[in-house]
Amino acid sequence: MSVQEIRLFGDPVLTTPAAPVVDFDKELRKLVQDLTDTMVAAPGAGLAAPQIGVPLRVFVWDVDEQLGHLINPSLDLSDEIQDGEEGCLSFPSLSYPTRRAMRVVAKGWNMHGEPITVEGSELLARAIQHETDHINGIVFIDRLDEQTRKTAMKDIRDSDWFTDALTKGSAPIIKVSPHSPFGKGL
Ligand code: ZN
Repeated sequence: MSVQEIRLFGDPVLTTPAAPVVDFDKELRKLVQDLTDTMVAAPGAGLAAPQIGVPLRVFVWDVDEQLGHLINPSLDLSDEIQDGEEGCLSFPSLSYPTRRAMRVVAKGWNMHGEPITVEGSELLARAIQHETDHINGIVFIDRLDEQTRKTAMKDIRDSDWFTDALTKGSAPIIKVSPHSPFGKGL
């Protein structure tokens, strides 16, 4: 079991398209295991490799007590739409009404390199669309209507996790004076 740190919005890995998997090897199976462990520990309904800092087209889900994973997916979406609240582990404690296709047929590969087809509706369809967006460098707030997106951006700026990340990223470097007046580094 290897739970990884989940990258938060603001990290460039979340807005960069991920590369296709070429080698279906032991490392890939470890990645699927790490993604699954991290998702279950969060807990979450889905997690994509870029969210743990790995820029590959791999994601996992945990919907209706069924664990799954998919590699190098391509999606067919229904015309029928679903409305519902959606959140993301990279945007802690925020969720917004997000339109998605009601059904999806996803083709791809499993971690052993075997071709698989996954058909889902409702929450599974939503999870597969959300995670496929992640590997294309798209985050769910990009899918919101304009007004909701404005609200989301404000909520993000007001959130503790976003201001913490900003503070860490832009903290001034404090130099220790070589001539400390008190004999201690300041
Ligand atoms: Zn997400």
